[in-house]
Amino acid sequence: MKVPFLELSLQHRALRTEALAALAATYDATRFCLGKDVDDFEKNFAATLGYPRALGMNSGTSPLHAACMIAGFRPGDEVIVPPFTFISTVWGVNYVGATPVFADIEAATFNLDPARLAAAITPRTKGVIVVHLFGQPARMDEIMTIARRHNLFVIEDCAQAVGARYRDTPVGIIGDAGTFSFYPTKNLGGCGEGGAFVSRREEVHTQARHIRVHGSDRRYYHDIVGANFRMEGFQGAVLNVKLPHLATWNARRQAIAARYLSGIRLADVILPATPDYGASVWHQFTLRHPRRDALREHLAKHEIGTDLIYPVPLHLQKCYTVLGYGPGAFPVAEQAAATCLSLPIFPELTDAQLEHVISSINSF
Ligand SMILES: *Cc1c(COP(=O)(O)O)cnc(C)c1O
Repeated sequence: MKVPFLELSLQHRALRTEALAALAATYDATRFCLGKDVDDFEKNFAATLGYPRALGMNSGTSPLHAACMIAGFRPGDEVIVPPFTFISTVWGVNYVGATPVFADIEAATFNLDPARLAAAITPRTKGVIVVHLFGQPARMDEIMTIARRHNLFVIEDCAQAVGARYRDTPVGIIGDAGTFSFYPTKNLGGCGEGGAFVSRREEVHTQARHIRVHGSDRRYYHDIVGANFRMEGFQGAVLNVKLPHLATWNARRQAIAARYLSGIRLADVILPATPDYGASVWHQFTLRHPRRDALREHLAKHEIGTDLIYPVPLHLQKCYTVLGYGPGAFPVAEQAAATCLSLPIFPELTDAQLEHVISSINSF
C-alpha cells in the first residue's frame, strides 16, 4: 500500500467546484489585489480563530518582515531565535539589519527552551521570535515572563500552528505580533502564496496595515517606509472556501497523531511530547530514532513517504557561517536534526494507510 508523505490533490479535488466558482467571481470582478475577498477572509479568519483582527499578506515571510520593522530592530540589535525551524523565521531579522542570536530548543517539544532564551540575553537583545513548531505551542508563560523582564518585542511565528491555542488563547496574540503562512502545504493552504499578521495591540496592527501597502494609509501619501505585502484577491477567495474546513482538518490531524502515539511500539523511538498547556494542531508528526536513516529506508521499502524536517539546524547553514557558530553550539537542535523523521499526517490520510505506517514502523 502506497502512503505518500503528503497528497494535496485530494483536498483540492474535493473543493474544486466551490473553489473555481469563487475564483471565477473574483476574476469577473477584477478583485486582484486586496479587495472584498481579502477583507472577508480577514474577518472570517479573525472570527473563526478568536483574533481581534487580522491582515492578509502575500506570504508567511512578509508578516515576519513587517513585525521586525514594527519592532524597530536596527543594526547592532540582537534578536533571539531558535535554531531548529524553517529558515524564514529568521529572514526578517536580517532584512532590517539586526543580528540573529540562536538559543537552543527543548528536546521534548522541539520549541525554544525558556532557560536557553534567558541565558542568551545581553544588553543588546531587543526581541525574540518564538516558533510554534510542527503545530505545538511553545512555553509562552515562561517566555513572556522573561521577555517582559527584559522589555523584548515578542514575535510568534505561527506558520505551522493555525488553529492552535496556548491554554485558552489562540497563538499569535500572546506576544506583540503573530504571523501565519498559507503556503499550500500548511494546515490552511492557499492556491499559491499567502500569509497573515495578527496582533492584540491595535497600534501594531495599524502599522502592519500601512507597511503592507507601501507605508500608506492614503494613496500616494507615505508616512512610514513600507513594502508590498498585499494578499492577492484569488488567495482570499480560495481561503474563504477552505477556512470553514480547518477545524475538521485539524481534528483529523489530531486523531491521526493520537493513533500514532498509541500504536507505535518500537525500541529507542522518541515520540513527540503532548504537553497539557496547549494541544498541537500537528502540522508535522515528527519522531526521533537513533537509526533514523535506516528506519526511513525501511519505510520507503514499504512504500511510505517520510521527510527530514529539518536536516540541518540554522546555525550550521552556510548563509549563517558569518555568525560564527560551529557544530556543538546547540546540541539539542543538532540532535533533533540528526534523528528526526516526519511521518505522513494530512487530513485525507485513510485509516488503512495509517495502520500500514504503524505496522511498518513496528516491524523495523
Ligand atoms: C512556512 C513557514 C514560514 C514561511 O512561510 P512562507 O509562506 O513560505 O513565506 C515561516 N516560518 C515557518 C516556521 C514556516 O513553516
